Amino acid sequence: MAHEALWFDPTLCFIGNRWMRSGCNQTMEMQNPSTGDVFCETARGTADEIDICVEAANQALEGPWGQMTAAERGRVLGRIGRMVEENADKLACLEAMDVGKPLKQAKADALALARYLEFYGGAADKMHGTTIPYLDGYTVYTLREPHGVTGHIIPWNYPMQIIGRSVGAALAMGNAAVVKPAEEACLTALAFADIAQRAGLPDGALNVVPGLGEEAGAALARHPLVRHVSFTGSVGVGKLVQSSAAENVVPVTLELGGKSPQLVFEDADIDSALPFLVNAGIQNAGQTCSASSRILVQRSVYDEVTAKMAERYASLRVGPAMDDLDVGPLISARQKSIVEGYLEKGADLEVAARADVSCEAPNGGYYVAPTLFSQVSSDHTLAQDEIFGPVQVIIPFEDEAEALAIANGTDYGLVASVWSRDGARQMRLAKKLRSGQVFLNNYGAGGGVELPFGGTGLSGHGREKGFEALYGFSALKTVAALHG
Ligand code: NAD
Repeated sequence: MAHEALWFDPTLCFIGNRWMRSGCNQTMEMQNPSTGDVFCETARGTADEIDICVEAANQALEGPWGQMTAAERGRVLGRIGRMVEENADKLACLEAMDVGKPLKQAKADALALARYLEFYGGAADKMHGTTIPYLDGYTVYTLREPHGVTGHIIPWNYPMQIIGRSVGAALAMGNAAVVKPAEEACLTALAFADIAQRAGLPDGALNVVPGLGEEAGAALARHPLVRHVSFTGSVGVGKLVQSSAAENVVPVTLELGGKSPQLVFEDADIDSALPFLVNAGIQNAGQTCSASSRILVQRSVYDEVTAKMAERYASLRVGPAMDDLDVGPLISARQKSIVEGYLEKGADLEVAARADVSCEAPNGGYYVAPTLFSQVSSDHTLAQDEIFGPVQVIIPFEDEAEALAIANGTDYGLVASVWSRDGARQMRLAKKLRSGQVFLNNYGAGGGVELPFGGTGLSGHGREKGFEALYGFSALKTVAALHG
């Protein structure tokens, strides 16, 4: 079944610069989360396709891709980025259908993908080793070398952004990439392969195999020729991926989400904070690893902040992705039932606000009304678990010490923010918050392309984005010459 918005054949895998049918000749049905309808089928690659891909990627390292200078690699990435930008509307349309993301948010993702390629294309020839003063008669220097074949297991919530940050950095350092997009949303990964091919990326540098996690994903994570695995998704699968990689003793980057807090003190500029407090929770219907799902508010301003957040919730518009409202549907019936399960667990809590789903939203779509709970204690399940839906809890605190204890009181540590005019408090908390990123008087939901991103605890390890990702996607070699 083809769809008019598709300009490539999604039932094929992209392997070694060729479009190939999967050997098992099976496909996966793609549902539009806004309607629940199946709108196309995609390839269902298996361990066989992963094998062929990894071999193609390995050969690419010996061929034109592996022989390119860093500057040439940078130019190719830049070209792909410009083509992504030119095709941003088409890509946004695909993502809106596939993920249920409101069009404007989907277009922002396409432009972020272009920006990653611009950034990493520009950085490709700026990465270098150093010289190290050593014993008399020696010259010692370091080289930054690619790992080789890298595996990229991509989730469904931000396919384009995550391909940009992971594949962009890997290719900039001269690695070859094998991408396994999520079974719920693989269209923009295939569209990206088509664009990269047209932009002249050499054979085998990029390969894309849609397929099931337990088939294609697991095969990629355990493949002995894969020298680095990067995974974004659930904690459970992250652990499986890490143990598979451990069998081959290769590095992994894990980005596993969070329960990110925003701390609002009585001296904060509350009106400036408000859009950040709400948007960071409902962006992409709350299906964001760096969503801010916990709002911690000092008791003296608790009622004011709750009332103002509730007012914003009341004005949220929820409906189909193509209507481009504030909030779209969740990705799947399964995700909807997970989130509804959490709403039931919150039945004992005070509901400060609940937005309405548009009456024009199709019945088959996976809509959940954004919900704000107030007066939540920090040990409640809704204040501890990553819900991955448009649900926020507001937790009161007395003073800085209590705010810090609550903020650090989950198993996660991805992003945190502090809203306060007190500079000393900002500095103290920035140091003490257990979190990969801390924002002061703003909230970046992962921040820009330039800002290193990643977590601690159950949020994972390793850093993506910025120059840090380039260190992760390369191995350091030390060369020591004794010349007298
Ligand atoms: P998931 O972890 O199952 O899927 C993420 C990716 O891993 C997909 O590409 C999937 O095909 C692949 N995968 C699944 N099983 C695999 C395996 N055994 N080996 C290798 N790869 C495998 O996530 P999900 O089931 O789609 O979502 C469940 C929950 O995960 C969500 O409710 C949310 O809490 C969390 N999640 C987090 C993020 C994030 O950005 N950190 C993204 C998606 C989901």
